[in-house]
This record gives sequence, C-alpha cells and structure tokens, in this order.
Amino acid sequence: MKYRIAYAGFALESVSSSPFIIDQDLFEKNALHGTELLEKQKGTNTVAGGVIEQLEEESMQCIPIFESNAGALGPASDNAVRYAEHEIITGLQAAGHLDGIVLFLHGACWAPSYPDVEKYIIDAVHHAFPDTPIVVALDYHGNVNADTFTHAKAAVAYHHSPHTDMGETGKRAVKILSRILRTGQIPGFALAHPNIVIPSIMSATALEPLASIIASARNLEKTGDCDISVMAGFAYADSPNTGMTVMCVDWDGQHAAHDKADQLTKALHAERKAISTAQPVMSVEQMLQTLTPFAPKSRPTVVLEHADRLNDSTHGMHALRGKPVGRVAVPFLFDPHTAKQAVTAGSGAEIQVALGGHSSHHAGTPLTATAKVIWSGEKSYAVSGRMMHGAQVNLGATALLEIDNLRISVVSVFAFAIDGDPFYIFNERPEDYDVILLRSKTHYRDFYVPRAEQILIIDTPDLGPANVKQLIYKQLNTSTAYPWHQ
Ligand SMILES: [Zn+2]
Repeated sequence: MKYRIAYAGFALESVSSSPFIIDQDLFEKNALHGTELLEKQKGTNTVAGGVIEQLEEESMQCIPIFESNAGALGPASDNAVRYAEHEIITGLQAAGHLDGIVLFLHGACWAPSYPDVEKYIIDAVHHAFPDTPIVVALDYHGNVNADTFTHAKAAVAYHHSPHTDMGETGKRAVKILSRILRTGQIPGFALAHPNIVIPSIMSATALEPLASIIASARNLEKTGDCDISVMAGFAYADSPNTGMTVMCVDWDGQHAAHDKADQLTKALHAERKAISTAQPVMSVEQMLQTLTPFAPKSRPTVVLEHADRLNDSTHGMHALRGKPVGRVAVPFLFDPHTAKQAVTAGSGAEIQVALGGHSSHHAGTPLTATAKVIWSGEKSYAVSGRMMHGAQVNLGATALLEIDNLRISVVSVFAFAIDGDPFYIFNERPEDYDVILLRSKTHYRDFYVPRAEQILIIDTPDLGPANVKQLIYKQLNTSTAYPWHQ
C-alpha cells in the first residue's frame, strides 16, 4: 500500500505596522483545493510543485488539501487565520487515512490575536491528527523559534533568496517525511538564533559574508547526514521571534543538530555588522545625481525602491517624472482603482489619475496627472522567470499608462515584478527602457543583475527601511538583538 501524504499551505509575509489588512476574502480568492491544487501546481517551481514531484518519485500518494498564498502584504486578519485553519483541518478530516502531512507556511505571517500564526496552524493540525507526523516547509524570511515546531517533526526553509529553490524545498520536506515513515527514525531538530535583525534588502544570499556562511552550511550537509536552513527572518513583522534563525534537521541525532546550528549561529553573529551593511543604499537625491546628465546606455539602470512593501509607493515616481533620465518603466504598481478606471476608459483614452500611495501615508502622495491609456483590460500569465516558474498569475484589471517620461503598468492584485514578465505581457522588453523602477528586495536579482547597467538602491521614508532602528517594535525584545545591542 502506498503511503498517503497530505499537503496544505497557507502563506503571507506580513508587515505588521501596515494598515492594509488582508482579510479572509483575499485568501478565499487565491485558494486552491484538492485536484485543482494538484493540477495547477504540478510542474511549477513552487513548494507544492516540489512536494507533488517528490511524492511521485517516492511512489507515495499526494493528497492535496488546500493552499492559499497571499504574497507579501500587511497583517492577516484573525478571521483569515481561522479560515485557513478551518480549510486545512476539515480538508484533512475528509481525506481518509493519512500517513504524513507536509505543511507550507511562510513563517512571517502576523495577525492581531495570534502571536505565532505558523505555530497556531501546526498545533491545530497536530491536535486533530496527534499520531500523524508533520514536516513543515518555510520561506527563508520566516520568523520562527523552537516553540513554533513543538508539534512538527522537522522544518526546512528555502536556501536561496531570490527563492529559486521553492520546488526543491518542497522536495526536501518530503524526503525527510519519507525517511521518517520508512525507517521509523525521528531526526534531531535544532534551532538557534544569532539575535540579528536584518532588513530584507540585505538578505540576498549572494551577498558576502552571508554567502560564505551559507556555503559552509552546504559543506556541513556534504560531510554529515543533515538538512540545514539559514534563515534571514523578516524585520518588518514584529513578533518575539523576529530575526535570523539557523535550523538543522540531523539524522545523527539531537546533539549533532545542536552543534551545527550553534556553529553557524556563531558565524552569523561574528559577521553581524558586515551582513547588515552588505551593499550601499542611497538617497533619492543621490540616485538622481547618478542618473543625470542622461547618457543612453545599451542596458537599463534598475532603481530599487526597496522600502516599499505594498508595491504602491510613489516616492520614486515623483522623483523620476519629468527628469532628464530617459524612458522610465514602473512595472506592476498596485492600484486597483486606477486600473479599473483605465479599463472603463479604454485604450487610447486620456484620464485624470491619482496614482499609487493609497496603502498608507508612508507610501507617498498619489501621483496626480493626466495619463494616456496605452493598453487596458484583464491580464493573466504563467511565470517565465525561475522563481515560481510556471505558476499562474492573475493580475485582474490591468492598465499600461503613460505619464510624461514614465510608463506604468497598473495592476489590481499584488504581484512580484522580478523578471521579464511585466514587459513581455505587453509585447515589450526591459531593454526598451533607460530606467526600470522596481520594488523588489532580493528576488529581482536572478533576472536583472545580469541585464542591468547598474542597480541603484534608494531608501525612501516607507514601511521597510534599510535601517531597522527606525522601526517601532512592541513584541520583539530589541535590547538583546543587533543592531540595538551591538
Ligand atoms: Zn521570502
């Protein structure tokens, strides 16, 4: 008889201070259940895609239950957490006999009444299925501690940011669960914390000295029998466990797991300052000085408005509009109202817009202007980039607008602009532009680092600043964490 393994996922990266609350309806809209989940995620570079593929490899039966991924936005409502719990638990209860459960959880979901959303979901599943082993797959930006996994046998997180290994992470979770079921052995599982809080912009895994420490984790895996996750954490979700974590799942036992997690934690702590300042961040004025006087280049300059967390900040657009910097592309600005307005007006129309800046007062004032509608309508596509390759994205009402030297694609859902898709879907190319204004932190790197003339990271007065000391924490004890405690 084949082992029957259930898969369920619930993911949101929450900026806890954002007033933009993600309620149940968005999770309902993004939800995949049962065979639809299997059909849509099979063959994609997502955790679900990797789980499905590895279960096939292991001749195990995949029982797809539920998945809803809301991306990176504000807090979840309490209702949204209860909705996910209900969908997962009732789905599992209706699934018949189960030998194991793989859960995909972000790790940095934040909701008002749930101090650790991921722990809450894991515990709920465990209480409903106390004898069924649970293994968890997480985002590299998750905030976790040992308490999170009281009722899980093991957890793994993405190795890379950009997260080009989502599918591989799903496979790693299945391999651990499979070994538990086939051998009856439970691996050692240890977590350790270097007490470092880093901004997302410094969490790219190609940046030194983080890259070398992560490489040493891969070497420990080669010489041992273990799976190690070095996690950046997520500075903008305020919880008692906010910050970096090292997790080690070790078949040589608990001591071996602790030793490796401690060793890597010490290496991170020793390099805390260098990790936190691994690349230069500039002001908007410095960016404009770098770009002017304008000299055409064969490749575009990427300007990263990294502190924007909701894809609707206007600081960069205001700064670049009307300046002699060439043609500027602003991909996937999140503004459902303006997108709908442009769809109603139709292609070729001129409309008065108050564009962006609606998610919070930190996002800047809306860009008020007369915009020409280059294209408008509904858009959906399959991701062509490596991260989430093959996954379906539905942008809803979408518009391509022109305001002076800016060409802005306006979308109705939060969508990552990290590869060529924001251009390809309009039959354009990134190299058609002189400047591309992105809001990515690390995920743009896979596509844009090889294609960009230069990358200018600007720090704007927004919810995700490079200096985390500007943030107000109520849950995290900053007195023991770097950069507050040196
Ligand atoms: Zn992440």
